[in-house]
Amino acid sequence: MKILVLNSGSSSIKFKLLQMPLEKMICSGMVERIGYEDAILSIKKDEINIQETVPIKSHREGLSIIVSYLTHPEKGVIKNPQDIFAVGHRVVHGGDSFAETTLINGAVKDEINYYSALAPLHNPPNLEGIEIAEKLFPTAKQVAVFDTAFYQTMPVKARKYAIPNTFYTEDNIKVYGFHGTSHKYVSEKAIKYLGRETSKIISVHLGNGCSMTAIVNGKSVDHSLGFAPSNGLVMGSRSGDIDHSVIFHLVDGLGYSLNEVKQLLNKKSGMLGLTGSSDLRDIQAKAEEGDKNCQLALEMNAYRIKKYIGSYTAVMNGLDALIFTAGIGENSSLIRKLTCLDMDYLGIKLDSVKNEKRSNVLREINTDSSQVKILVIPTNEELEIAKQVFNLIS
Ligand code: AMP
Repeated sequence: MKILVLNSGSSSIKFKLLQMPLEKMICSGMVERIGYEDAILSIKKDEINIQETVPIKSHREGLSIIVSYLTHPEKGVIKNPQDIFAVGHRVVHGGDSFAETTLINGAVKDEINYYSALAPLHNPPNLEGIEIAEKLFPTAKQVAVFDTAFYQTMPVKARKYAIPNTFYTEDNIKVYGFHGTSHKYVSEKAIKYLGRETSKIISVHLGNGCSMTAIVNGKSVDHSLGFAPSNGLVMGSRSGDIDHSVIFHLVDGLGYSLNEVKQLLNKKSGMLGLTGSSDLRDIQAKAEEGDKNCQLALEMNAYRIKKYIGSYTAVMNGLDALIFTAGIGENSSLIRKLTCLDMDYLGIKLDSVKNEKRSNVLREINTDSSQVKILVIPTNEELEIAKQVFNLIS
């Protein structure tokens, strides 16, 4: 069964075509810079990488180009769109309406549209991707996989903000959580690896966006992102935790507009604000050359992760495994080292030799005497989406 996974963002569409249940990737790619004359189409199939600059006016045009590539008589991988049995759509916000992966119908689309108010950058392009895919793949089942679904198991005490109750009950202001597909995928891998009936896990997803989830027996119990993907860890360009008084002072005391503060905290802060770059590779290189701001930013980054490890270990009353995943978590031995330094009180002991080894499969990087397993697990959100779609429709 061929399943096409689509991640339709504000100016890009990413896709992966998978053969399920073999979990075999047939081809993948993306269109970026939609709306520009010099949009970029990239396709990866076996060892072949194609990249072309083409004008792409709209999402519809972008997805049509992808379909014409997939069905191309010589270069393509399917004969016609009917070969796709199902399309799995990544949808960022499903609010409290969706605890599970769901077959898309009119009512589901209405709900996704309703939650656009809470995820204005993500849900509208996700919905647009669904509507275009319905036209381009009329025989395929359309399925929505929600980033927020994994957090529906969190207890109210972890989801509710300490503001008057009506904001929770009437205005839906609460923790929704993000990166759920990634945390679910890597934690299931870890549970299988641990081979235990019960487990207490902390999953640390460190990419451009960063988040942590506390997971007991496969169910999330706490999470660092909140109402929007801005709380918690220091991210590429987002500040993470900040005293809200700073916002009032920026507006009332320093004369910034609310929109400027929003841009500042989401687009100009985090590692970018601290160092001038949001790319950890640049920051590590500069820190090695002696740049003090970069050195401090790396320490701040790891310090914040450490604090969340401490609080989640307390919340779960124990810890069996600590997972590092995503671009930074999988590749930066330095961030892992700084994070795990002096954590032996909590039973976390990093093996510095294993930490430096590179591999693209699950690996253990703790010492033999470490009570807690420290695991590096490559995430694969598209495969998780395809698995969930396959499980739903078969
Ligand atoms: P993601 O959002 O998961 O693609 O992760 C993007 C982040 O991963 C960027 O900050 C990159 O700098 C970082 N990253 C990717 N490769 C490496 C690497 N080899 N070493 C350190 N950081 C990396």
